[in-house]
Amino acid sequence: MAALPQQPVVLSFEEARRSVEQHAAQVRPRGTETVDLLTASGRVLAEPVIADRDFPPFRRAMRDGYAVHSADLAQLPATLDVIAEIKAGATDMSVEVRVGQAAAIMTGAPAPAGADAVVMVEYTSVSENRVLVTRAVGAGDNIVPAGSEARKGQVLLEPGTQLGYSETAALASVGKTDVVVFSRPAVAILSTGDEVVGISERPGPSQIRNSNSYSLAVQVREAGGEPKLLGIARDEVSSLRTLIAQGLQSDLLLLTGGVSMGKYDLVEQVLEEFGAEFLFTGAQIQPGKPIVFGRARGKYFFGLPGNPVSTMVTFELFAKPLLQALEGASPAPLTFLHARLKSEIKTKTGLKRFLPGLLSGEFEQCQVELARWHGSGDVAATARANCYIVIPPDRERIAAGEWVAVMLR
Ligand code: AMP
Ligand code: MG
Repeated sequence: MAALPQQPVVLSFEEARRSVEQHAAQVRPRGTETVDLLTASGRVLAEPVIADRDFPPFRRAMRDGYAVHSADLAQLPATLDVIAEIKAGATDMSVEVRVGQAAAIMTGAPAPAGADAVVMVEYTSVSENRVLVTRAVGAGDNIVPAGSEARKGQVLLEPGTQLGYSETAALASVGKTDVVVFSRPAVAILSTGDEVVGISERPGPSQIRNSNSYSLAVQVREAGGEPKLLGIARDEVSSLRTLIAQGLQSDLLLLTGGVSMGKYDLVEQVLEEFGAEFLFTGAQIQPGKPIVFGRARGKYFFGLPGNPVSTMVTFELFAKPLLQALEGASPAPLTFLHARLKSEIKTKTGLKRFLPGLLSGEFEQCQVELARWHGSGDVAATARANCYIVIPPDRERIAAGEWVAVMLR
């Protein structure tokens, strides 16, 4: 039986994440469309991409130098007759290097018959038609065999691959000008709160502008979804009812605010009217503890806590994997790096924390410190931060100099 919000289901971060991932594994993308190669970036591939020829299509020289018989370099220095020059793109494939001979060759050019290696130009000196070689090479050195990267007909990219620049290179290499990708899921975004006003309105003294709809729209778009802004619901049943009904027509509904314990936090109550099944109603995290995940009318929804930083963090941690699944991708694992803490952090145990931080330095010298913030409503501090420092729930003091996990923003 579905847990009702009256019986809160508060999970650890890991359990909550697993719950989303299990549901994500069952959702299917809506459809596919064909888009041109550059429009496809960020989208998810819906067709296998097949090598249309061998990669590389010919034995390719990896270096500028001389194509040789490696056995000719057993005694050094060795002097060889230069019989040809082969440029990248050379069409004359009749060159054959015999014992005692070499062909000058450029990176990307086809290695001539006979030659089994390329010696780098750095280890040669040439005069007239003779080249002096001062370093040996092994058979196969600096030549990429034809078909060694991929055979004609081989699958280069599987459906479900999210397309970034390196995937785009693979698509371009096989001449894909148009690509079949999954449709972008429509993601309804509904902010709630009597104090929240539209960003072009002049807020009254106790009102705030709706930042959540916009930060979420950007997160949705960056994750490959199509945001649909439904505006702001009042903290009253009728307003919520109308807009939630509208939101459940999209592929995914994201609500912000109204999921805490306050008297006017009515979101769960109204969702229940729609027959919602609540998968969890909280996670042991900060910010974002009152996060709600559920399903109603065949659609998944997330009730994200209204504090702007909570909204941002809970989207990244929980909503994103489900959105990726709706796009046809297998949800990407969260990625972390490690950095040394610049100054001590003191906190309370019990919650896994994702605190806005400032990461600096490079390579082995990465350092991170807490952004100076005033809690999960602090939009300005989060905008200045560039990461989240992750504090495990069992730590109450982390000393300066310790390694901490950092999630990039
Ligand atoms: P709630 O989760 O509804 O209790 O809201 C928590 C806090 O987040 C309150 O201080 C709200 O004013 C603020 N908040 C709620 N919704 C938004 C929004 N759409 N944009 C900016 N702040 C919000
Ligand atoms: Mg509210």
